[in-house]
Amino acid sequence: MSRLVVVSNRVALPREARAGGLASAMQAALAEKGGLWFGWSGRTVAEPERSIETLRDGRVEFALLDLTAAEHREYYLGFANRTLWPLLHFRPSLLDYHRDDFAGYRHVNALFARHLAPLLRDGDRVWIHDYHLIPLAAELRALGVGARIGFFLHVPFPPAALLSMLPHHEKLFPALAACDLVGVQTQTDRAALLGYFRDETNAQVDGDVVTMPNGRRFATAAFPIGIDADRVAAQARKAESGAATKRLVRSLEGRQLAIGVDRLDYSKGLPQRFDAFGRFLSRLPEWRSRVSFLQIAPPSREDVPEYRDLRSRLERIAGATNGRYAEPDWVPIRYVNRSFGHATLAGFYRVADVALVTPIRDGMNLVAKEFVASQPADDPGVLVLSSFAGAAEQLREAIVINPLDADDIGEALERALTMPLPERRERWAAMFDTVRTQDISAWREAFLQRLAST
Ligand code: UDP
Repeated sequence: MSRLVVVSNRVALPREARAGGLASAMQAALAEKGGLWFGWSGRTVAEPERSIETLRDGRVEFALLDLTAAEHREYYLGFANRTLWPLLHFRPSLLDYHRDDFAGYRHVNALFARHLAPLLRDGDRVWIHDYHLIPLAAELRALGVGARIGFFLHVPFPPAALLSMLPHHEKLFPALAACDLVGVQTQTDRAALLGYFRDETNAQVDGDVVTMPNGRRFATAAFPIGIDADRVAAQARKAESGAATKRLVRSLEGRQLAIGVDRLDYSKGLPQRFDAFGRFLSRLPEWRSRVSFLQIAPPSREDVPEYRDLRSRLERIAGATNGRYAEPDWVPIRYVNRSFGHATLAGFYRVADVALVTPIRDGMNLVAKEFVASQPADDPGVLVLSSFAGAAEQLREAIVINPLDADDIGEALERALTMPLPERRERWAAMFDTVRTQDISAWREAFLQRLAST
């Protein structure tokens, strides 16, 4: 088997305390066959000091590239997070485009290519991750790299009409054609990807293969990312008797619990979810004092203004709702702005009756899958899931809602809180089966096998 080279904006070093499912999956794939993981070191430096740091852990090598403060500002904070992120999450009104940022983004991709190319061998399989690195394959090809290259987009791929709002989009997305395989999360994303190439580049689309006007071909496929379901289930079983879960259960005093767990990000539909919970309590007063809503929302990207605005907006809504409906012994919304480890979260999921997963757009949404994996088979909770999360293509037995309709969320919540046990069991069993069989290892194997055979 040829060597695997993973490239992503950030690299998860071995034994990193908070490594998520993706990091573990990449580490496992690299450890199995030996390989290299290349990415930004997370450090910003003055240019003359820039260096590549290499580390080794068994058969796996890590190569970490420093960026200057200006490169980091333009490539990461600017173009990746303030231009591409809102665009790819269907929020063009939040898009902030600057030519300097786009130039910085392309410069950093070229820089990655210049430092990576000398480390590559002909038989390597290169797996590039996510929207930070869309032009990288083309930059590598320009340097003569002939290795097989796959790209996976973790976020949604919107339709051409939306993507073409990005100034100079024709200098960005067509670069994906330098890959041999472009993977996305869902069939909807795949259809949009094919549509973009057909409408905006005059490519020929034949099944899942795109042939560019210059004859270059690449394959496309949906690979819905999964979680390590068995591990999450085991964590949840163990955490149930742990101190943090017990304290949470005790504090509920027999009330039902709805839970939300999201990075504080405008793609997650948090203001709409908070409003929906307020409307639910206003419309159905009999539920007051009978259900608590715990929202865990660790702040993210605090150096981006839209994220700071979102945070104050949520504080206002939570404060107003709690002020209106709280009792001396009950607070409707428990709004917690900090992050918890996976094991603690698994315990919280396990004792929750309902998960509210209501993003406006989400590539996949792993929280939905983690909630399912954490539930007890004999008395499982109910998943309320946005139809705009990638996970909705797989978890069809969830109560699927439109997050822009507060009453849709409220009605789903009421239905979830009152759902009879046999129906809960039936829905959960089907979803658990999906989450277990289409787990993170199946995802990585499917991608790598397809890359090898393309
Ligand atoms: N997460 C965590 N601690 C927290 C909140 C979230 O470890 O306090 C994890 C969560 O368990 C999940 C990931 O962060 O694995 C979020 O992934 P998701 O796909 O739901 O959303 P993203 O943040 O990637 O947009």
